Amino acid sequence: MSDTLLDSRNLAFELYEVLDAEGLTQRPRFADHNRETFDAAINTARTIADKFFAPHNRKSDENEPKYVDGAAELIPEVKPAVDAFLEAGFLNATRTFEQGGMQMPNLLSQACFAHFQSANAATSSYAMLTMGAANLIENFGSEEQKERFLQPMIDGRFFGTMALTEPHAGSSLSDIRTKAEPAEDGSYRLKGNKIYISGGDHPLSENIVHMVLAKLPDAPPGVKGISLFIVPKFLVNDDGTVGKRNDVALAGLFHKMGWRGTTSTALNFGEKGECVGYLVGKPHNGLSYMFQMMNEARIGVGMGAVMLGYAGYLYSLEYARDRPQGRLPDGKDPASPQVSIIQHTDIKRLLLTQKAYVEDAIVGTELDGLPVLSAAAPFKACDRKGVCAEESSFTVVPAGELKVKNIADLYLYNNRLMAVKVTGAELEQWLECSASQFFQITDTADRQELVDFTGFPTYNFDVIDGVTYQIDVTEPARYNGDCVKVSDGTRIVDLQFEGTAIDPDQTFLIASNDYRAHGGKFAGTGGDHVVIESPDENRQVVGNYIQANSPVTPTADNNWSFAPILGYTSNLEIVFRVPNTNRAKNFVADAVAGAGGSFLATLLDDSGNEAIYELNLQP
Ligand SMILES: Cc1cc2nc3c(=O)[nH]c(=O)nc-3n(C[C@H](O)[C@H](O)[C@H](O)COP(=O)(O)OP(=O)(O)OC[C@H]3O[C@@H](n4cnc5c(N)ncnc54)[C@H](O)[C@@H]3O)c2cc1C
Repeated sequence: MSDTLLDSRNLAFELYEVLDAEGLTQRPRFADHNRETFDAAINTARTIADKFFAPHNRKSDENEPKYVDGAAELIPEVKPAVDAFLEAGFLNATRTFEQGGMQMPNLLSQACFAHFQSANAATSSYAMLTMGAANLIENFGSEEQKERFLQPMIDGRFFGTMALTEPHAGSSLSDIRTKAEPAEDGSYRLKGNKIYISGGDHPLSENIVHMVLAKLPDAPPGVKGISLFIVPKFLVNDDGTVGKRNDVALAGLFHKMGWRGTTSTALNFGEKGECVGYLVGKPHNGLSYMFQMMNEARIGVGMGAVMLGYAGYLYSLEYARDRPQGRLPDGKDPASPQVSIIQHTDIKRLLLTQKAYVEDAIVGTELDGLPVLSAAAPFKACDRKGVCAEESSFTVVPAGELKVKNIADLYLYNNRLMAVKVTGAELEQWLECSASQFFQITDTADRQELVDFTGFPTYNFDVIDGVTYQIDVTEPARYNGDCVKVSDGTRIVDLQFEGTAIDPDQTFLIASNDYRAHGGKFAGTGGDHVVIESPDENRQVVGNYIQANSPVTPTADNNWSFAPILGYTSNLEIVFRVPNTNRAKNFVADAVAGAGGSFLATLLDDSGNEAIYELNLQP
């Protein structure tokens, strides 16, 4: 078997030495796997890709799909290839054993899929789109939708697409015009035109499930008015059999410059007013759901491009080994045999450049290896204006396993994920500004408030995770609420990363959000520092993380605390306030319990609107 799809030694090195794929078998979900099962799957992928996908790669590019009588025709080699892929179970590689899957880590599933992409990016796209559409229904569809549409997709009977783009709305999805009117039976009737829909028609499956973005009649303008619908090419009967043709017509095929074997279609929905669709999830939330499939498609298309480049490198390598040409500088005798061109230094340089390009695309960037911290404002017990009596300003996340449904509480705002690169010195200043949230505690027996809710906006109190530190509230605040320097106070003490004091010149990445990264008031933030700008909202990122790593059961890591107050002679009475509700008081009790004795809060007074607690910082 040839190694022109993916060099097996290189792949094994990436998987087992760089990425520690075997480490994944320690997780309960992958406990039935080991290196042998991983290698067996990879070898099967290689065999099928070699036998069924690679041979028609060129032919499918030279013979792009044809539009014949309202349907797309493909060359005959595509279906047996896709069938072999399905038969071997690669469509469901990551699904659980109960679902009929291989329960593989995504890393291994991607490594297997890379062989198909390297062999034939176009034919593998039909499978890629189906996996993405199935995952979308699995996460956001109703039980009935899962039974009717997801199960046949898992079984390989139905394929899927994503139908977003319209003639006048590509990047600008807020402008889509496809409409969905409610019908009496609870379904919807769609009307609109979509273009560039990959896999929008083909003869590879019994049915095609289009995941369509459209707007309901009462939709608010813009992206907040987009809903997601399942629109099958053929309606599905109650007994699961495929019924009559839905009102989705193939209007034509686009001719592309590459990737020509995948149909790129123009689809007309509802030309006869009879296009049946089913709403997925809640109305007007469609784009946020669709981001899951868009992100999978981004990774898939990116991997496809890398594999195309990689296959190109392997073919060049093979050619360079076989092509005799010229002689080396120290052997110019014309009677001596020619050497293969790989022996010429410049050809070696070219090959290594090709290899480096694709490997770089896989492995990462210059940011690889920097310590990653995260910054977030955890205080939600009072709202932005310092009002402490609103129940709604609490973040309620139940103890135990995190669920996707907790995300709205975990992350209140629709900010996007961003990361900034900072020095140790900037990190320390960032924390100093946050620590200005507290009043300075002086050596007096008079009652003293701890938290400054009026002079300092609560949302500027950041906790930075991944480092440990203490806050010494006997020192004056170094900054005001706008991070403008007002004193030389040093409140941040014992700032450490992995048990060692932080070097001011050390570099860190801090994951946060677009508001903070571009906020610019903290040291280390602002445009010059931003190194990663994700298009995804933090909520989406957290949701993906929970889905990928379930079960996620975080515990308080108590990475920061107040420094004990040692030198004062007075018996201090330091107080903080919360709304006088059971919920707020339970939070305080939880926090005290979670801190494992590092701080104690005693209830002093709950006769009014607020409950006043004393915080004991004197050992
Ligand atoms: C191979 C392929 C497969 C596809 N498959 C599908 C599919 O399965 N389903 C589907 O729905 N769609 C699909 N598409 C369509 C794809 O999603 C759109 O091409 C994409 O959304 C961009 O839209 P557009 O082509 O109209 O370009 P435009 O939106 O017109 O963009 C043209 C250029 O202008 C830039 N631009 C646009 N707006 C801005 C802005 N506000 N600020 C700065 N720059 C801007 C863009 O970055 C781009 O460089 C596919 C496209 C390709 C090439």
